[in-house]
Amino acid sequence: MKKCPECNHELKRVKNEALQTKYKTSNGCKDILVENLSYSKCDYCNAIFYNPDDIDNYEIQLEKALEKERRNENLLTAKEIKAIRKKYNLTQLQLELLLKIGPKNVAKWETYKSNQSRTIDKLLRNMNDDYCFFLKMLNNVEVKDFSNIINEHSFYLDNISILELISKFYPDVNIKNVSKDFISYVRQVIESLLETTIVEKNSELVLKEAV
Ligand SMILES: [Zn+2]
Repeated sequence: MKKCPECNHELKRVKNEALQTKYKTSNGCKDILVENLSYSKCDYCNAIFYNPDDIDNYEIQLEKALEKERRNENLLTAKEIKAIRKKYNLTQLQLELLLKIGPKNVAKWETYKSNQSRTIDKLLRNMNDDYCFFLKMLNNVEVKDFSNIINEHSFYLDNISILELISKFYPDVNIKNVSKDFISYVRQVIESLLETTIVEKNSELVLKEAV
């Protein structure tokens, strides 16, 4: 049995215990209940000791507690935000520019140092669920900050209106998986039916008289 370094009494192992802890955020400290903790405790002086495995477990359980808190507030978790960002290959700075917010915010949401607002949360969800919505956001950024991303989506950026039409007429179709050929085909069909050329202007569909 190990002895307490503080008072030399015997330490007792504690498992699956919940502890109220102070967690530092950008808006000060908050109390958070971390569950399923393991540690050694001295019943005489009440000191608590974590071995390296206990510390690893503490990190995992703390993240779970923070995740649970976000879910209870109906906000995306850190992992979910990161997954949306990674899905579109965005850096933290690019996501901030896309959302038109100040620097370092995304890093804070992704490490639970602060929570995203409800408005931002909604934008992130729309961006995740609706590819056209993401493309429209991309249409409103400085090209120099997004050259790699714009390059990756250039064909779709040039066809936002067609993509929107497809998503309206075929709501079950996942427009991210629509082939370029199909988009070109739909464009041709519409253009021949209307006897016009379709041009995209600020993601609005503009009909140009055919020459
Ligand atoms: Zn002690």
